[in-house]
Amino acid sequence: MNFDYSDSTKARIAKLNAFMDEHVYPNEEKYHQMVHASDDPWQTPALMEELKEKAKAAKLWNLFLPEEYLPHGAGLSNLEYAPLCEIMGRSMWSSEIFNCSAPDTGNMEVLAKYGNDQQKAKWLVPLLNGEIRSAFAMTEPEVASSDATNIETSIVKEGDDYVINGRKWYTSGAMNRNCKIMVVMGKTDPSAARHQQQSQILVELDHPGVTVVRPMSAMGYLDEPVGHAEVLFENVRVPAANLLVGEGKGFEIAQGRLGPGRIHHCMRLIGCAQRALDMACERVEQRIAFGQPLSKQQSVRESIASMYCKIEQARLLTLKAADHMDKYGNKVAKNIIAAIKIVAPKMACEVIDESIQMHGAMGTSQDTVLSATLAYARTIRLADGPDQVHMMQLGRNLVKQQAEKKA
Ligand SMILES: Cc1cc2nc3c(=O)[nH]c(=O)nc-3n(C[C@H](O)[C@H](O)[C@H](O)COP(=O)(O)OP(=O)(O)OC[C@H]3O[C@@H](n4cnc5c(N)ncnc54)[C@H](O)[C@@H]3O)c2cc1C
Repeated sequence: MNFDYSDSTKARIAKLNAFMDEHVYPNEEKYHQMVHASDDPWQTPALMEELKEKAKAAKLWNLFLPEEYLPHGAGLSNLEYAPLCEIMGRSMWSSEIFNCSAPDTGNMEVLAKYGNDQQKAKWLVPLLNGEIRSAFAMTEPEVASSDATNIETSIVKEGDDYVINGRKWYTSGAMNRNCKIMVVMGKTDPSAARHQQQSQILVELDHPGVTVVRPMSAMGYLDEPVGHAEVLFENVRVPAANLLVGEGKGFEIAQGRLGPGRIHHCMRLIGCAQRALDMACERVEQRIAFGQPLSKQQSVRESIASMYCKIEQARLLTLKAADHMDKYGNKVAKNIIAAIKIVAPKMACEVIDESIQMHGAMGTSQDTVLSATLAYARTIRLADGPDQVHMMQLGRNLVKQQAEKKA
């Protein structure tokens, strides 16, 4: 593995950092004020559109889409995208500016990989252009959704249509006014083999029978203007052509989207943690307690050192995972993807928490990004599979591998 980025990656890093310095950090507070001052908290402020146009002009657009989807994306490898995604992760609202935010990225990959020509024209193209947003609805309040085979939403074929009934929650993005399409996971055949019962289908937000019931908070945050919705599906009748790939393929599609989705979360969280460390380093130099800057205290220096070590460990593991995905494919890289999904969110929680401690009361306030960032990092220990599920699968795979080696 090469421990340095290529010249073209370095140039993109410099360009993205310059964009963040000029357009993102100076607008952070203004953006949140605009969201909260608006009569409609689910309407994305116009500032976002202005910045998206600037990002497009700077060719900092759809950076997440790998080479196989050219000409749509930038054609970067996971390893090339990693440092860019990390930089975007430093500010929680910035990924959207570059059309690189979840769950749109996963949905675009799904549509690019599994969508037919009609689905691509209707949904993928406007998503790639950043004209609309999308959501992925799998989790249900009534069943333990970390085991996706539990999902109960029914998708029943009736003539040329499918009829959908069920209740979802924590459908990220579905509160936003610009969210037009959902990828919904449900069961087409509950009597089939365990992993062939599920299918995925496209459902428009404004389709008759779809009710966005309420916004769900996450650690007290509603995450406006994007949000996480509870969504009710009551006899939602959509054309059979809305089904992705075919009946029984839902699990396969879900697995396919989670590899890149998981590593992107980890990259962003490394950015969050790095920013928390940078902020801590600045704060402890300015703040005088007991006659000297906090930075002169040995325990503070140890904490800073420990934060740095944790971030570097997670970053190197994430880059190795990205490299494995590029070289051997997501399936072969599944163990190391599980490893980073276990390591990075926990690391980010610890590092951000430590930075809050060094900031004192201010760290818990609305005057820094730290508390919202901690809440976000904490939720990623659950989203796209809780830690324990990844540990269960990683542990199982490693024991099995060793047994195969000995056989
Ligand atoms: C902010 C946020 C955004 C989200 N966005 C989306 C979204 O856009 N779309 C979507 O579909 N879902 C989304 N989710 C939901 C998320 O994917 C689920 O919460 C997650 O899959 C866990 O499902 P569950 O909540 O039903 O927990 P449960 O399945 O009830 O599990 C509860 C706990 O049980 C433990 N557990 C589970 N299995 C095991 C095991 N094998 N061994 C030991 N312990 C175990 C884990 O600690 C787990 O956290 C989001 C969640 C949050 C918080």
